[in-house]
This record gives sequence, C-alpha cells and structure tokens, in this order.
Amino acid sequence: MLGGGPIGCEMTQAFARFGAQVTQVEMAPRLMGREDPEVADFICARFEAEGARVLTGHAAQEIILREGEKILVCAHQEQRVEIAFDALLVAVVRRARTRGFGLEELGVRVREGGTLDADPFLRTNFPNIFCAGDVTGPYQFTHTAAHQAWHASVNALFGDLKKFRADDRVIPWCTFTDPEVARVGLNESEARHQGIAHEVTRLDLAELDRAIAEGEEHGWLKILTPPGKDKILGVTIVGTHAGDLLAEYILTMKHGLGLNQILGTIHPYPTFAEANKLAAGAWKKAHAPQKLLAWVEKYHAWRRG
Ligand SMILES: Cc1cc2nc3c(=O)[nH]c(=O)nc-3n(C[C@H](O)[C@H](O)[C@H](O)COP(=O)(O)OP(=O)(O)OC[C@H]3O[C@@H](n4cnc5c(N)ncnc54)[C@H](O)[C@@H]3O)c2cc1C
Repeated sequence: MLGGGPIGCEMTQAFARFGAQVTQVEMAPRLMGREDPEVADFICARFEAEGARVLTGHAAQEIILREGEKILVCAHQEQRVEIAFDALLVAVVRRARTRGFGLEELGVRVREGGTLDADPFLRTNFPNIFCAGDVTGPYQFTHTAAHQAWHASVNALFGDLKKFRADDRVIPWCTFTDPEVARVGLNESEARHQGIAHEVTRLDLAELDRAIAEGEEHGWLKILTPPGKDKILGVTIVGTHAGDLLAEYILTMKHGLGLNQILGTIHPYPTFAEANKLAAGAWKKAHAPQKLLAWVEKYHAWRRG
C-alpha cells in the first residue's frame, strides 16, 4: 500500500484483515498527517498488532522488475530500501480531471491545483455553468459534494430570485479504520500551529459503560474549547462509531451551541452517544464555579447546625 492518508489506512487494514501481507509505505514521518500525532501512533500500533507492516519516512522513488520480481524502491534516511510486492495499491492523491473536454476552450476558470474555480454559490465564471463535488473542492468528501450539489442545483434553478451560499464553516470527516477516526474543526496540532488559545477536555472511552459492555473500551474524545468558554473549536474522536458520535458536535458547532447544551440534554443509557454528555460533564467539572461551591458548602454546614 502506497500512501498513509485516510484511504491508504482504510485499505491497509481492510487488506490485512482479508489475509494479505500488507506493507504500508508513507514518506511523511507518520500516518494520517492531518490528525494529531497520538492518533497516528494509535492507528499505527493497531495496524502493526494486526500484522500489517508500516514504513513511515519512506519515499517511493521507482518500481523495478528484477528476475521476475516486482520491487518498490524507497528512500529512507538517505538509504535505498527495496520492498518486493505482488500487487501495489497507490493511494497518494486524487486530482480533479477538468481538462480535455472543452472547459478550457470555453474559458471556464480553473484553479492552480486543477479544480474549477467557483464562488460560494457554486457558480463558475460563467453564469450558466455551475459545479459541485471533487471537481471544485476544496474538500473531497461525499457529504461535501452532496451539500454543494444542493446549492448548485437550487442556485441554477432559482438564482435569479434568491441565491443560497454554501456554508463550509463546519466540515466533518471520518476515516473508516477500526477504530474510526472522526474530526470536526481544529485539533490540538492545528490550534497550536495557528496560535489559537484553547483548552482540551478528554474522555477515554474506557470510562463509557456501553464501550465496556461491547469490549470496545479503546479510544478517546478530545474537545477543544476557548479558555473558560464552552463553545467548541474542534473535536477528534477515536473509537467505535466515532463518525456517528461526531454528529452531535457538528450540530452544536453549526448552530453556535456549546458543551453546556450537550450536558443539559438527556442521552439514553447505555449508548455510545452518552460519551458526548460525559465529555461535556468533564469540561463542566473542570470549570465548576468554585466561589459558589464554597458558599454552598457553608450554607449546608449552617443548615446541619
Ligand atoms: C477509495 C475511496 C474512499 C473514499 N471514502 C470516502 C468516505 O468514506 N467518505 C467520503 O465522504 N468520501 C470518501 N471518498 C471521496 C468521495 O468518493 C468523493 O469525494 C465523492 O465521490 C465526490 O463526489 P463527486 O460526485 O464530486 O465525484 P465522483 O463520485 O467521482 O463522481 C463523478 C462521476 O462523473 C463521471 N465522469 C467523469 N468524467 C466524466 C465525463 N467526461 N463525462 C461523463 N461523466 C464523467 C465519473 O465516472 C463519476 O461517476 C473516497 C474516495 C475514494 C477514492
């Protein structure tokens, strides 16, 4: 498997579980480069435990055929590394195919990376040519394609009367490894890199009754909030059903709600979804009103006499 991004990771685990001997090759120092290092370490350890071999820091350079054997040649710390293979699956990048069927002749504007240039209403530089999905990006997900498709269609039909702007402020995604890795908004690495002040609330799924009951007590939820505030900057979830658990945070972020609202909402017991309430509770506990609690303590001491 060539590539340590989400698709490379999903395929590595799938083929390893089918019984293939898989070597995953990634030139970056870790898998899943967009996620926090601890996520990558966790997934990498899981793959290795399941029998896949993970080679990070290995840049693929060429494929050679020697005495009938297929070999991928990589550079690793200035050394040449050869990896023999039967089949090679390449998952390194996906590019929009926008050339060759007349768009350039028409003069439809294309961005540097090859995607069609569109405004927030999904219009190209021609008022009657709209686009949606991977072809315009910047996100390459089915759910963002569907979101854009609605806007492109409605704007094409009714744009003269009313235009609808595609809202890309809250974009979730999930990598369907086992366990899943789901994210919306910032993770810790990005917040640090962008100098955004934040607090981290963490809940280990080992504390969740449903996860324990199902033997799935691995993984965690990590929520970033501005210091002292319950608004959500971003959430990363590693665990069973992480993509489903994320939905509540997507809604919360999209509609400007916060952890107090999640905490104040009854979640059924015992479910995985309850993890969201427990995490909100962990945030609340860390922000308990100490002055009020001291006063309450005195009040009850007085009542007891
Ligand atoms: C292995 C893999 C796993 C993925 N997993 C996920 C996932 O778990 N979740 C997720 O959200 N996204 C996932 N994606 C990304 C997701 O598939 C894409 O973002 C999504 O399909 C984009 O939809 P689209 O309609 O823009 O393009 P596409 O689904 O690529 O559809 C474009 C269609 O246009 C057709 N077409 C192309 N050129 C022409 C032409 N000249 N004339 C006529 N027809 C043409 C193509 O045949 C194709 O059917 C995955 C992608 C891959 C490759």
